[in-house]
Amino acid sequence: MDRPNIVVLGAGYGGLLTTVKLQKLLGRNQAKITLINNNDYHYQSTWLHESAAGTLHHDRIRIPIKDVINPHKVKFIQDTVVSIHPEDNYVKLMNDEVKYDYLVIGLGFEKATFGIPGLEENAYAIGDVNSSRLIRDHIEYQFAMYHNEVEKNPSRLTIVVGGAGFTGIEFVGELANRVPELCQEYDIDRSQVEIVALEGASTIMPGFDPELVEYAMNSLEARGVHFITDALLKECKTESVVYEKDGKLHEIPTMTKVWAAGVRANTIVEKSGFTTNRGKVEVRKDMRTPEYDNVFVVGDCALIIDEPTGRPFPPTAQMAIQEAVTVAANVNRLVQGNEHLALFVPQNLGTVASLGNNDAIGVIFNNRKIFGWKAILMKKMIDNRYLLKLGGLGLLLKKGKFNFFA
Ligand code: FAD
Ligand code: NAD
Repeated sequence: MDRPNIVVLGAGYGGLLTTVKLQKLLGRNQAKITLINNNDYHYQSTWLHESAAGTLHHDRIRIPIKDVINPHKVKFIQDTVVSIHPEDNYVKLMNDEVKYDYLVIGLGFEKATFGIPGLEENAYAIGDVNSSRLIRDHIEYQFAMYHNEVEKNPSRLTIVVGGAGFTGIEFVGELANRVPELCQEYDIDRSQVEIVALEGASTIMPGFDPELVEYAMNSLEARGVHFITDALLKECKTESVVYEKDGKLHEIPTMTKVWAAGVRANTIVEKSGFTTNRGKVEVRKDMRTPEYDNVFVVGDCALIIDEPTGRPFPPTAQMAIQEAVTVAANVNRLVQGNEHLALFVPQNLGTVASLGNNDAIGVIFNNRKIFGWKAILMKKMIDNRYLLKLGGLGLLLKKGKFNFFA
């Protein structure tokens, strides 16, 4: 083979870190590396809820791709992937076609709407920089409109968040802090604003430590978040949501519905004919697809079963980052002609969730529970560690979070 073509799809946590690692591992004469992404920037999905609530500007969340790749080693193509053709080793883009010898798929997540009527058309979702910016502007517009109508419309001041998993909770935490600022800006009394979190399960953050869940509820309720549990969102209309609780249907008038009740893998993977399980590729232990020896999957498009429980690992940035290290090492080995690939062994580094920038909860190292300032500190350290890994001290200093005791 001439210099092999390595193509990486998606510059999220998985794809970009794989690329950055590969550019360190491989010399220019050993392989051609191409990174394809729809934007010329990488965004930290884990900060999107802050941008959506308007508590953090989206420029803090995104990193120009040119700032972390070496243009002498990596060719960057800004384009949208349309389909992957693994039988013929090429990828169809909106404006081009790209052939590969080795492929890494890191196209991330999409919202999962479970076929709920009206969700696609009437609800916002926290998916990327564009959708987060739209949510922020939509909420602010509702506040701005309120005093511009003779007949006051309280549904402009009601925000309903569907799903109180980690994304829903982190988002309402930011909203709880943003709403008082909006009230002040638009001369609205805080008591007129409703933030409602609808959760289908009997508790928020189902499966997480009950003591910390209770802490989170208390922290958020004290800042005006109203939780409705055992409440399944059934329909999303233009100016209301319908949910079912205790066998009865209830309707909440609202101009702002944010769907945070689940994600799925990018549908391109399924549509491209890979064998999928829940829309994801159940990868081999070396992170390759079951069928193709030259195709790797990283991040939310990959499914890995946690053997002791028999359940899939949840899709997280933590996993995507760890997987990227193995994927890059294995692509490098194949390029070097070494068929002995490393096996991916996930390491649970714990879970920390923010409740706004002034509170957080988490379980770290061997099930140690933390909350309040310790958890805030840990959350920011996790974020900063990733930046250091991706772009060194320079990137950390430029984009890191250092307001530890906000
Ligand atoms: P992504 O980070 O989603 O990146 C995918 C990339 O592919 C993007 O750059 C996108 O622009 C690009 N792309 C998509 N489609 C195309 C296309 N057709 N053509 C070209 N490019 C394309 N996990 C944690 O571990 N900790 C957290 O604290 C945490 N917080 C979160 C908070 C929020 C609000 C959300 C929504 C998720 C959070 N997660 C967290 C989950 C985490 O963000 C995801 O698991 C992670 O982003 C997955 O990484 P990825 O590399 O697979 O894809
Ligand atoms: P999720 O699947 O974890 O949570 C979705 C929630 O919505 C669940 O609580 C579910 O019961 C509820 N739900 C589903 N259908 C519903 C309906 N019809 N009506 C009402 N409620 C409904 O999804 P997520 O919160 O978007 O998280 C996605 C992934 O990202 C997860 O793996 C999560 O761990 C990860 N994440 C991690 C963090 C963190 O570590 N701090 C933060 C955000 C997201």
